[in-house]
Amino acid sequence: MATMSEKRDYYQVLGVSRNASDKEIAEAYRKLALKYHPDRNPGDEEAVAKFKEAAEAFEVLSNPEKRAAYDRYGHAGLSGNYQAHQFGDINEIFSAFGDIFGDGIFGEIFGGLGGRTRPRRGQDIVCEVTLDLHEAAEGTSKTVRFRRHEVCSTCHGSGAKPGTSPETCQYCGGRGRVMQSAGFFSMQTTCPACGGRGATIPHPCPRCKGQGAVIESVTREVNIPAGVDSNTRLRLQGEGELSPDGGPRGDCYVLLHVREHPLFKRDGQNLVCRVPITYTQAALGADIEVPTLNGPENLKIPPGTQSEEVFLLRGKGMPSMRSRRRGDLLVQVFIEVPKSLSPKHEKLLRELAEIENSDVLPKRKDFFGLIKELFSKRG
Ligand SMILES: [Zn+2]
Ligand SMILES: [Zn+2]
Repeated sequence: MATMSEKRDYYQVLGVSRNASDKEIAEAYRKLALKYHPDRNPGDEEAVAKFKEAAEAFEVLSNPEKRAAYDRYGHAGLSGNYQAHQFGDINEIFSAFGDIFGDGIFGEIFGGLGGRTRPRRGQDIVCEVTLDLHEAAEGTSKTVRFRRHEVCSTCHGSGAKPGTSPETCQYCGGRGRVMQSAGFFSMQTTCPACGGRGATIPHPCPRCKGQGAVIESVTREVNIPAGVDSNTRLRLQGEGELSPDGGPRGDCYVLLHVREHPLFKRDGQNLVCRVPITYTQAALGADIEVPTLNGPENLKIPPGTQSEEVFLLRGKGMPSMRSRRRGDLLVQVFIEVPKSLSPKHEKLLRELAEIENSDVLPKRKDFFGLIKELFSKRG
């Protein structure tokens, strides 16, 4: 903002006459505070300056002694005990005038009974994204859509119908709290008339029904790093719900689901792929083609390969989010037995069977040995 070489008149700042009542001053300030609220003017330095200027004017004019000094001597009258407070930090304004913002109505947005020193963060929200295995392996960017409260654009968060404004609660005088006596004790309780908001809204905004905020759907681009898995959560900082009292928004967590792949099963960073081979490939050895994430590759299987045997393709698994090392691809072969045979196939297999009968393989030999033993005991 352009430097304010001369301090503006406090009544002018708030836009009220010199004989405005306390109530008029509080309402004028509330309006300005809502208008220049930093949540509604993100990154706008001029709005921040106006927000502070209004707070300073209100701080003086809401204090009877300071106001009297100011009325008599102008800015020069505000020294010593009557010094105008220079707000350095926006949070200081919230803690000083928290109750003027009320709780509830704008509620969802600015609430806060006096005395709370730190504005609360808004709630976190969760949205979900599904991606396929290739996207999880390569990293990708996805559009996510989620719903959250946004400051109502019709009333700018005041909750009041345009052209009207919230009114200071008559019962508590805008403080949101009232003193109650019980015997010797007196204690502060939330104002029963306004529910602690300090204000009532005679004419609610038709768009947000006086809430000051409405639920809207927002979309964001999310960068998804390579190596993510189902249940990985990515944080979108400051994209969650509005704070109830002018603090920062909560965060939005993007929960990832990685779709099952028809060929690859994931086991941490490793991938497992089952590949069918024929009996002859297993027995004689073969060069077979196996799928990887980057396309088919050749794998040499040695003669005498057994069903369910596993071959390792190093570094062909999933990347890691934490290290450079990629997982491995485990190729598990299994022998597929043909369901029907051509006459030629059958003839060859029968010849093979005759040889096998006279030349029994070691596992079968053990097996038949066991069976013989079993029956001889019974007999
Ligand atoms: Zn509204
Ligand atoms: Zn009240």
